[in-house]
Amino acid sequence: MTLSNGRHYLAIPGPSVMPDRVLQAMHRPAPNIYRGELVDMVATIVPDLKAVARTRHHVAMYICNGHGVWEAALMNTFSRGDKVLALCTGRFGTGWGQMAADLGIEVEWLDFGYQSDVDTARVAEVLAADTAHRIKGILTVQVDTSTSVKNDIPGLRACLDEAGHPALLLSDNIACLGCDEFQMDDWGVDVMITGSQKGLMTPPGMGFVYFNDRADAARGRADLVTPYWDWRPRVDPDYFYRYFCGTAPTHHLYGLRVALDMLVHEEGVEAAWRRHAVLAEAIWTALEVWGQAGPTRPNVTEREKRSNAVTLVNFGPGNGLRLRDWMEHNYGVTLGIPLEGMENPDDYLRIGHMGHVNGQMVMGVLAGLQAGMSALQIPHGPTGMEAAMKVIAEAA
Ligand SMILES: *Cc1c(COP(=O)(O)O)cnc(C)c1O
Repeated sequence: MTLSNGRHYLAIPGPSVMPDRVLQAMHRPAPNIYRGELVDMVATIVPDLKAVARTRHHVAMYICNGHGVWEAALMNTFSRGDKVLALCTGRFGTGWGQMAADLGIEVEWLDFGYQSDVDTARVAEVLAADTAHRIKGILTVQVDTSTSVKNDIPGLRACLDEAGHPALLLSDNIACLGCDEFQMDDWGVDVMITGSQKGLMTPPGMGFVYFNDRADAARGRADLVTPYWDWRPRVDPDYFYRYFCGTAPTHHLYGLRVALDMLVHEEGVEAAWRRHAVLAEAIWTALEVWGQAGPTRPNVTEREKRSNAVTLVNFGPGNGLRLRDWMEHNYGVTLGIPLEGMENPDDYLRIGHMGHVNGQMVMGVLAGLQAGMSALQIPHGPTGMEAAMKVIAEAA
């Protein structure tokens, strides 16, 4: 006998849960890829993608995962030998910077470790010292999914403005778009990238590069750009087939259309941010109460520096691995593994709480974790669930 039979819940930080409506929208024959319904539908997707990011500028669509849009963003903005400042708060910030280095871009690193957000004072120092303006761009993540650290994006824009520094601000929002508040235009972000498979509730396979006119001016100078990754034909194609530099991802687009209906038109982006905030608060409250009488610790100490989309938790020596196994085999929930680079990876697990997630799903995960800690004799404050329920009760 196992209690894990029944509908399994993949609670990892991407791919996230796909709504049945999204999956059903994809289950259909291919449309004409040159004219008609598909072309009309893409014309409605573009403004909704912009609404999620709070921008009136441009969004280019690609058939790729997150790593693809990392590369696309770099290739459209920089030349070989240009210098960028890469801000690291975990595996993903580091990965993006490493990709820049591999493309022949000179990278200056600022590493803030795995538990802290970007220290804008240190960024300000680097910018002030760069009087020749050799730094052409700042690469940051809004949320580093490996650590669940959330960075202060408006604070980075303020650093650039106060230094009078012309570098572009590039933000990786793959983990958190639609979950944590983000205002591309108001926050002065020049390039933002995201993917389909996290907050956008659509299968992995589409990537999006948002850019403003300053970034497009940089595209005019960039010598790394190649025909396939060029964002210009993807925002203003002379005929539809060139939107995707070839065949459109027809079925992803049907799914994305429904996901955007749900996020932008039915729930509303701000209500989705609020839902994620309350669900995250329920999770953090349970973790904090468990930790009052045991080893459980959220990786990021201060709540305002945590993402509402994903939480990395230390459950004590070896307990992250034991709890993940217990949850998967006895309870029907798969949790996220820690990513490479963590010092004691078996102590950790990640809870994905992004996208199509509601109160019963989050409370189900928490109840399973508390049951698992009892079964595995991991000490914990006994009223974590009650405390989380109080958060739900007060917000609902
Ligand atoms: C998921 C993620 C990526 C990588 O996306 P892939 O689709 O796995 O290539 C990059 N950055 C962040 C912040 C992510 O959350």
